[in-house]
Amino acid sequence: MTHLSADAAAELPLASVEDAGLALLRRAIERDHAGRLAVVSSFGADSAMLLALVAEIDRSVPVLFLETGMHFPQTLAYRDALIERLGLTDVRDIRPDPAQVAGRDPRGDLHLFIPDDCCTLRKVAPLARALAGFDAWATGRRRQQSATRAALPFRETVDGRVKFNPLADWSVERIADELARRGLPRHPLLRQGFASIGCAPCTRAVRPGEDARAGRWAGQGKTECGIHRPAFF
Ligand code: SF4
Repeated sequence: MTHLSADAAAELPLASVEDAGLALLRRAIERDHAGRLAVVSSFGADSAMLLALVAEIDRSVPVLFLETGMHFPQTLAYRDALIERLGLTDVRDIRPDPAQVAGRDPRGDLHLFIPDDCCTLRKVAPLARALAGFDAWATGRRRQQSATRAALPFRETVDGRVKFNPLADWSVERIADELARRGLPRHPLLRQGFASIGCAPCTRAVRPGEDARAGRWAGQGKTECGIHRPAFF
């Protein structure tokens, strides 16, 4: 399979470009949203792929990591390893407001009772504050991850801000092959069956045949944390 360089792809009509998502990402970073685009990364199961592609374009692109205080220690170690390996120069830990945490979740167990409120407190609100200085962001979401992401576009507009999903059409196999080819490390919990990795209290390993995200908020009727609101085109 022949892959065009992102440079070449960016100059071609999207319909003829195999890696249309990557072409859009390069054009956004270098031209359309230069200096005004952030990458949001969980440093989870597949995060290394998007971060590697961004680093190839510009290592100084801001990367926002939602430091909820609830991550697996393996995720924090993996974050540090990837930062060093890829030479990322502007990774920002985005934390919840301490006063709001003290008031709303003093015992740190809100996730057990009202996970939507916990995600709002620790993810949605902090990200909204962090994105205020940007007019575009990029995520590593993929159509293959779950039924709710099956129609994910490469580019969408949410609340007036452009969101890029350059890996929307990538398969998990392609990511694995590409990361192996580049010699990049994988999240250590993958070996234990974790296919999608978020906060420790709300993530379990997946069983054979389950969606990659079936281990997130399992049994709670919740599939997304709330940072990815519906798009309006
Ligand atoms: S994933 Fe769980 S622990 Fe993390 S913010 Fe959401 S509810 Fe809270």
